[in-house]
Amino acid sequence: MNKNKPQIKKTKRTTLNRFPNRGQYDTDTIYSILDSALICHIAYVYKDEPRIIPTAFARIENDLFIHGSRVAGNIKALASGIMASISITRLDGLVLARSGFNHSMNYRSVIIHGTGTKVENNEEKFSILNVFIDHLIPGRSDDGLKPISEQDLIDTTVIRYPLNEMSAKIRTGHPNDEDEDYNLPVWAGVIPILRQFGEPITDPKMRHSTPAPDYVKNYHK
Ligand SMILES: Cc1cc2nc3c(=O)[nH]c(=O)nc-3n(C[C@H](O)[C@H](O)[C@H](O)COP(=O)(O)OP(=O)(O)OC[C@H]3O[C@@H](n4cnc5c(N)ncnc54)[C@H](O)[C@@H]3O)c2cc1C
Repeated sequence: MNKNKPQIKKTKRTTLNRFPNRGQYDTDTIYSILDSALICHIAYVYKDEPRIIPTAFARIENDLFIHGSRVAGNIKALASGIMASISITRLDGLVLARSGFNHSMNYRSVIIHGTGTKVENNEEKFSILNVFIDHLIPGRSDDGLKPISEQDLIDTTVIRYPLNEMSAKIRTGHPNDEDEDYNLPVWAGVIPILRQFGEPITDPKMRHSTPAPDYVKNYHK
């Protein structure tokens, strides 16, 4: 449990211009979006060109961590201490309006601004990498896995982004149509988007008849 959540101050960089009423800056809202997501997209400038990568992440208290092979181009660039913007989006619905113009989407999205720093301490790296596994599949790291080795730690770069400059934007509800358009007989409303995980499929190469544990059978994130 994190008792020391920072107060997020709105900055010039995190101020919304369009629909500012949809902006949210409290950590509880932002962290709940982060903790329900599986991937993020990180944008940065490399040799004067814009770049973006999708990647897994994990939040630990007031930091967001990404990891990757120490020889990956994007990881080397991000670990060199350059600024990045990180985007996380949960899509909740398609919003069908009475005019094409007013069609929209319901969503919860977060944008984080910050400069990454490489985690150098191996003990810290070890525990962060285990949290990574549990962010994706809660309970997995403690289920008799082969432990992360010294070599894994050497081969993997972990980058920390402090969560202190960020914004959430949330759209909910029905379309916002022009008054006169409500007279049109066309259907309007929301098609909800639900995330669903399928039945687990056992690896045919398993050499034991270990049944799928509850955290696998009941996986819903
Ligand atoms: C799934 C999805 C679909 C969208 N489709 C459209 C579309 O078709 N057309 C469109 O104009 N907009 C769309 N948006 C909204 C879009 O992300 C921007 O919010 C919008 O373009 C207005 O940006 P702005 O001028 O207010 O902010 P900008 O001036 O562009 O950004 C200023 C700061 O505001 C914050 N911010 C801006 N947008 C977001 C966000 N979405 N989440 C969290 N923080 C944010 C960031 O910190 C950013 O640095 C969509 C958003 C989502 C999540």
